[in-house]
Amino acid sequence: MTGGNKSNPSRRDFLAITSMGAASLAAAGLSGSAHAQEGKPQGESKEADSSPSKQLELLFLGTGAANWPRKYPFKDKKHSRAEVRAMSSILVNGKVLIDCGPTVLDVMKCYEVNPAGITDILLTHTHSDHLHSGNIMTIANSRDAGLGPLKFWGDPEALKKVPDSDRIEKRPVEVGKSFQVHGLEMTGLAANHHVHGSKEQCLIYLIEGAKRRALYATDTAWLPTSTWLHIKNKKLDAIIWDATVGEGKGDSRVFSHNDLAMIRHMNQSLVKGKALKPDAKIILTHIADRLHPPHDVLEKKLLPEGLIPAYEGMSVVLG
Ligand SMILES: [Zn+2]
Ligand SMILES: [Zn+2]
Repeated sequence: MTGGNKSNPSRRDFLAITSMGAASLAAAGLSGSAHAQEGKPQGESKEADSSPSKQLELLFLGTGAANWPRKYPFKDKKHSRAEVRAMSSILVNGKVLIDCGPTVLDVMKCYEVNPAGITDILLTHTHSDHLHSGNIMTIANSRDAGLGPLKFWGDPEALKKVPDSDRIEKRPVEVGKSFQVHGLEMTGLAANHHVHGSKEQCLIYLIEGAKRRALYATDTAWLPTSTWLHIKNKKLDAIIWDATVGEGKGDSRVFSHNDLAMIRHMNQSLVKGKALKPDAKIILTHIADRLHPPHDVLEKKLLPEGLIPAYEGMSVVLG
């Protein structure tokens, strides 16, 4: 997270924790002790690779809530970091996409991610900022046919809204039951979130590699008890929080999204319950337009207390 506010969108910023020692949160943001480097081109997909993954790389392909534009600027249009946010999504280890909303392909073009390398999509829930049928089909159709269908994971009720195609293999996710994806153990946990008119259980995901663990926790408000009990003692290396509401007080969205006070409170409880390592990276996503100041102001305000606002192209490497 070094460099000025203006960034070339073709470069990814890397924020690393390695086995050589974890950079402190404040240092990562303020002193530049965590390193930024140019992203590597995405490697070939190795479909058969199921050995435990030593490293977790989380590439942010969207960090905004649903009130941002549904189009993301292309590579040739220079823009400030997070001047425009895309719909929230991350890519894990270059192959596993969590949520596939309306902007994800635009962002992939900006950051030179090849959709054909994606083997699995995990869905949190079916709100339109997280699920876009056209983009799912584009990713499914971009795969080499010889590699088999794209695997699409989600709550069984939510999967009914995913296109039926022989290029897509739907895999139901049961809350609290883990499944293997490319050497990663993934577990869907209950989110505190609701899709009006749907019986689906909204999910957040626990991502576990051989050495590192992270929780991708959007969209959700205060964590349900069952989720807390599942992550207790997990000693997470990173948590990615829904931070929709900012500092807003009296905002009724706190019943389905977090404000910053809730995040601060939960972080303390999670560290005390050994769910979160004391030096874990606390990353904020699903940031609403107009409920937060501009990104550079947000960083200056939050980095000193160890909260890292994410932006498109930010890559967190836990290794
Ligand atoms: Zn959302
Ligand atoms: Zn939602």
